[in-house]
Order: sequence, then structure tokens, then C-alpha cells
Amino acid sequence: KFLTSQRQYKMTDTSPTTIPTLDSTRKLQGKVAIITGGASGIGEATAHLFANQGARAVVVADIQDDKGRRVAEAIGANRCSYVHCDVSDENQVQATVDWTVKTYGQLDIMFSNAGIVSSSDQVILDLDFSQFDRLFAINVRGMAACVKHAALAMVERHVRGSIICTASVVGSRGSKRRTDYTMSKHAVVGLVRAASRQLGEHGIRVNSVSPYVVATPLTQEAHKKEAEEIEKFFEALTPLKGIVLRVNHVADAVLFLASDESAFVSGHDLVVDGGFIS
Ligand code: NAD
Repeated sequence: KFLTSQRQYKMTDTSPTTIPTLDSTRKLQGKVAIITGGASGIGEATAHLFANQGARAVVVADIQDDKGRRVAEAIGANRCSYVHCDVSDENQVQATVDWTVKTYGQLDIMFSNAGIVSSSDQVILDLDFSQFDRLFAINVRGMAACVKHAALAMVERHVRGSIICTASVVGSRGSKRRTDYTMSKHAVVGLVRAASRQLGEHGIRVNSVSPYVVATPLTQEAHKKEAEEIEKFFEALTPLKGIVLRVNHVADAVLFLASDESAFVSGHDLVVDGGFIS
């Protein structure tokens, strides 16, 4: 059956030039990307991967200035810059996008990834609204500001860009703790769904990536555990065995959504969880 359908495809396909031919080692050749939360964890790994994949410029936007500058230096000043940007402040997000466009001429990829967890468990019976508001300002309003200003820059320059937001497995299921975080990640999935429908007419794709638990400063703070302990604990809960989720696995999924390999994928939540929520 498989062979038959393949043969039929070849016979009816009269325009082989429509089949994209990607240089598989340089998937982002010439692209300009912003990565929020790029100073650490998933964002840092993605900044390195984007640069390795031929991105012309990667702008690391974060509030940890020393760490952010170190990431930019490690990648190389010719291809990576650090910009201080608190995503909870729309003006700073707009300024970061404007600076990127002014410096590099365009914006092709926005990886809106910056996020936090509250310092307490935030179970519903003990919800602390001062932490709640701060978390929503970053995880929800900040994400929306990044999508908005990236899209404005892309629309203005007729760029068929790719916007990727970091959600989470708790963006589509419940959680025994972290009510605020779970709510915020559901909102990110909603943002992606709405924006992808609205921006499609401009050729802009909007997707999310939803990792399971991966050891980073964020999870170490949330679980009050060392990286190794976190990995051991969550490896036991993951259906897929023989592999431990690391930031590079998430970065690989982001690369797929950023590159032309996902040219017809929009409004999608790409879960990177070894089968956990299936
Ligand atoms: P991380 O702590 O290593 O990185 C988060 C980065 O965001 C940090 O560099 C931090 O300085 C930056 N940041 C925080 N507040 C900011 C602000 N207001 N403006 C700009 N930057 C800010 O954590 P990570 O695990 O790499 O987290 C990245 C994203 O992945 C977050 O959105 C997080 O919710 C999400 N996520 C993480 C996991 C996980 O297990 N690590 C799982 C699912 C989703």
C-alpha cells in the first residue's frame, strides 16, 4: 500500500521544484532571531543551536545581564548580541524588537521563552496573589507582548516569520501544585491558538513547545533539588526509557518550529515529554 501511494505521488507531481530542499546542517541560514530568557536553560541551549544552524544574528534578551553577556560572548560577537529586556514591560519588548530590526535589518524568528515559577507551591487553598500577579506579568503578558511586537515587525516588512512560545506539559493538563504556573501555561497555549489564526494571513506561523520537566535553574528552584535528583525523579515517571530529557532536546523541537521544515505547521503545541501526557 505504501509503495502504491508513493508511486502515485511521483506520477502526479509535475513540479518537483515545489519540494523544499533544505541544507540539513544550516536550517536557519541568514535568519535573525530573538530569544527571550536566552541567558539560561532552554533559551541558552536554543541560542547556541540557532547560531550553529547558520542564523545570521541571535539576540539574547534577558534580565540576567552577566549571564546573558556570557552567552553572547560564547557564541561570538559577530553572531550574537545581548540585550537587557524585562518582558513584563511592553516598552522594553518593543525596544528590543526595534533594536534588532535596526541593527540586523529584519526579524525572522521570535522565541518567546522567558518564564518564572513562584517561590511557593501555590496550591489553590494557599494562593498568594502577590506572586500570582508577578508570574502572570511575565509568563502571560510578557509572552503576549513578545508575540505582538515580533508580529508587528514581521508584518511591516512582509517577513513570513516564525514565532514560538514556551508553554509546558501543564499547559494542557492539571497539576497538583503550582496553580498559577499551570494557569499561565494554559494561557500561552491559548495565545498561540488565537495568534496563529490571526497572523496566518500575513504568512506568520505561531506555535508553542511544551517540555516535560528538564533540569534548569527554574526547575531546581521549583523542586528545591539538584539537577541530578530532578533528572532521576522525572526519568522514572517518563514512559520513554533509556534517555533523559535535556535542554538540547527542547532546543531541537524549537529549531524544527523555527525552520522551514515546519513550513505548514501553525497553531500547534509541540510536546517534548517522552510520552508523559499521552
Ligand atoms: P531558566 O531559569 O533556566 O531560564 C529562564 C530565563 O528567563 C532566565 O534566564 C531568566 O533570567 C529569564 N527571565 C525571567 N524573568 C524574565 C523577565 N521578566 N524578562 C526576561 N527574561 C526573564 O528556566 P528554563 O527552564 O530554561 O525556562 C524557560 C521556559 O521554559 C520558561 O518559560 C519555563 O516556564 C518553560 N518550561 C520549563 C520547563 C522545565 O522543566 N525546565 C518545563 C516546561 C516549561
